[in-house]
Amino acid sequence: MRDFVGEKWLAYQGFFEKASEIALYYGFTPIEVPILEQEDLYIRGSGDSTDIVTKELYSLRTKGGDRLALRPEFTPSFMRLYMERGMHNQQQPVMLMSYGPLFRHDNPQKGRYRQLYQFNLEVMGSDKSINDALVIRVLSTILDEVGVKDYTFEINSLGDKDCRTAFKKALVAYYRKHNSALSPRSKELLKTNPLRILDSKEPREIELRDGAPNSIDYLSGASKQHFKEVLEYLESLSIPYKVNNALVRGLDYYTRTVFEVVIYQDAAVDPTNPTPEEAAKQIRIELGGGGRYDYLAKTLGSKRDIPAIGAALGVDRIIETAGTKELMPRIVKPPKVFFIQLGYEAKLKSLIVTEILRNAKVPVMQSLSKDSLGMQLGRAEELKVPYCIIMGQKEVMENAVIVRLMETRSQELVKIADLGAYIKKLK
Ligand code: AMP
Repeated sequence: MRDFVGEKWLAYQGFFEKASEIALYYGFTPIEVPILEQEDLYIRGSGDSTDIVTKELYSLRTKGGDRLALRPEFTPSFMRLYMERGMHNQQQPVMLMSYGPLFRHDNPQKGRYRQLYQFNLEVMGSDKSINDALVIRVLSTILDEVGVKDYTFEINSLGDKDCRTAFKKALVAYYRKHNSALSPRSKELLKTNPLRILDSKEPREIELRDGAPNSIDYLSGASKQHFKEVLEYLESLSIPYKVNNALVRGLDYYTRTVFEVVIYQDAAVDPTNPTPEEAAKQIRIELGGGGRYDYLAKTLGSKRDIPAIGAALGVDRIIETAGTKELMPRIVKPPKVFFIQLGYEAKLKSLIVTEILRNAKVPVMQSLSKDSLGMQLGRAEELKVPYCIIMGQKEVMENAVIVRLMETRSQELVKIADLGAYIKKLK
């Protein structure tokens, strides 16, 4: 878990502002959900055989005996909120967004943190394929605007409840036949979460995958049509995509559309003597992902199904991607004025002057703990601020300040009462 200071803080804030602005244009409503929830929400919501619950959940017991957990993802909280507030009575779909920290007790490494940040979107209460396309469109717009190049949406369909069950059955039968070739992890997954064997990074299991059943072959007519429509939308929006039949995603609740947005980068190789295989090696970096979760609501106790689709961008990885623009949060503006105060009386009055400047929308820098004129002017020069406002004992008596143009060193005495209007006129 990391501290964010200086440039890093600015980069994250800048990203959140940009992404929120885009999602707002598309009609999403920003919400905030708690960082701590009942542990059971995630066990039932994310699934009790998933990595983020079995291995990565930060759980705790309160003094009162409740079992809580730090949120490992947003979706279960969004669905809880929709159900608790009876949002099915509102106009559908309900489009919500949020961003912030999530917690997963994973092995920390570059691009994998225990406190990670996501920007998250959910469209709830509709099973129409246009919603799948909308979510992907917003993610791709955000990636474009922050300058990520050459990304692709890898997409697959797991089908509805019936198709998924038939596919799972075929998959279990296939892997049972090849049981002796499976790793201990996959043998366990065969009992708990067989779809996840397709995610395996073991070379033998990657080979086995080629002969494994394909979820697309188990799609019902309606699921096939849904998938076809999503792909048609992506095509007509010119969003780069590729069907990836091995994509299942880690969570239990996914049905029909699942996707990940990825970039491929050259693997870091020894530049002096790479073998041809090494030089050609590419690593897949997953910048975000999502999918449909049409049956999650019932798992969480709803009487009715609430079809929905959601997606998240991994903010840490996007910011670490080479070529991503440095986004400046809008509230941070380059200072226009350095405010120098000399002596106790001037310091006393200084906050009145700063407030006048704030009302005039002029950002100020100052060194409140420094008293000498020379040191403060030196700091103003370092910061390349175009104007200084100087207030000494004499100016305090006159209810005025000196405004100094740094470039020409010309100075003018301005009454505090006139300062707001005067400073606004300066470039
Ligand atoms: P997920 O919620 O697991 O589907 O992840 C969505 C995105 O969050 C991924 O595509 C990653 O970009 C990012 N992500 C997931 N886990 C981590 C982590 N431990 N550290 C940093 N980013 C992560």
